[in-house]
Amino acid sequence: MPVIHRLSDLLVNQIAAGEVVERPASVLKEVLENAVDAGARAIEVQLEQGGVRRIRVADDGCGIARDELALALERHATSKISTLDDLEHVGTMGFRGEALAAIAAVARTSITSRATGASHAWCIDGSERSLSPAALNQGTVVDVADLYYNTPARRKFLKTEATEYAHCDDMFRRIALSHPDVGMQLSHNGRVIHRLPPSTPAARVAALMGDDFLQQAREVSAVGGILSLSGFASLPAYSRASRDAQFFFVNGRYVRDKLLTHAVRQAYTDILHGNRHPAYVLFLELDPAGVDVNVHPAKIEVRFRESRAVHQFVFHAIRRVLAESGAGRTEPQTS
Ligand code: ADP
Ligand code: MG
Repeated sequence: MPVIHRLSDLLVNQIAAGEVVERPASVLKEVLENAVDAGARAIEVQLEQGGVRRIRVADDGCGIARDELALALERHATSKISTLDDLEHVGTMGFRGEALAAIAAVARTSITSRATGASHAWCIDGSERSLSPAALNQGTVVDVADLYYNTPARRKFLKTEATEYAHCDDMFRRIALSHPDVGMQLSHNGRVIHRLPPSTPAARVAALMGDDFLQQAREVSAVGGILSLSGFASLPAYSRASRDAQFFFVNGRYVRDKLLTHAVRQAYTDILHGNRHPAYVLFLELDPAGVDVNVHPAKIEVRFRESRAVHQFVFHAIRRVLAESGAGRTEPQTS
């Protein structure tokens, strides 16, 4: 008879890592979101070899107290929620307390952090869990090296450096678009790719999507009951051959949601050919109680309580902006 036994913490975390840590970009997402949740005003990302060799994120946020560093690496340990009620009103990007445990189980990880008010920083090694004094002015540095060094089966699924880098760049853009007030820098193999000062939403959009997008887009600003939509949507003249310039955020969280995509797409019916796609950066805000972000570990999907009302609201908001700009009356273009 096979004997039932408990799996080791490391193995449990390595299994869980399959969900949370799909590729370097997913590590970057988790670590960047943690920096944002920590109230960082400046975040610096250094990638090596598409993030496979190294992802290093430094922030100037609240830091982690020495006595909590080991806990931060434990599974189901978080400072962000305590009760079911908190879960239903979650206002932070993270809340599961899973990411650092998963990352540390599949990469050489260290966290150096100086909590607000502490006299110096401490560094914890992700595998030994040993603490040592360290030097850091403020905030936290998370260093994730050699992703999947101990899980060769996963390593085989990594794509080329260029592909993994492209995914990291996408992820960086998403977080940067939704946090224009945070200064953000990204470098790859020692070369600075993005240097984004804290700015207005419009300036951040221009920096990441290009000035020509902003010039050929209309500002969206609509409120209806508990829903509000803001951002920029392209006029038909700026349509694209692919969906590569579509960014939708719900309560600051990047989502890829069929309902929302469809609502926008429908607003462009009659003014955009089927094979052309609008470009947009849109932010939907609603009471966190009206949306469930707990659907998927990577949290890219959401579920709305009033999905029909959300669809209608987004559709009409975009439709109105296009109509006011005159685009609504334009005949379908043939180019
Ligand atoms: P979650 O973000 O879901 O809470 P994580 O595993 O990502 O789970 O992080 C665990 C905890 O570690 C967080 O709740 C937070 O208290 C702390 N933490 C992680 N990264 C940072 C950071 N950059 N600055 C301050 N605290 C952090
Ligand atoms: Mg987190």
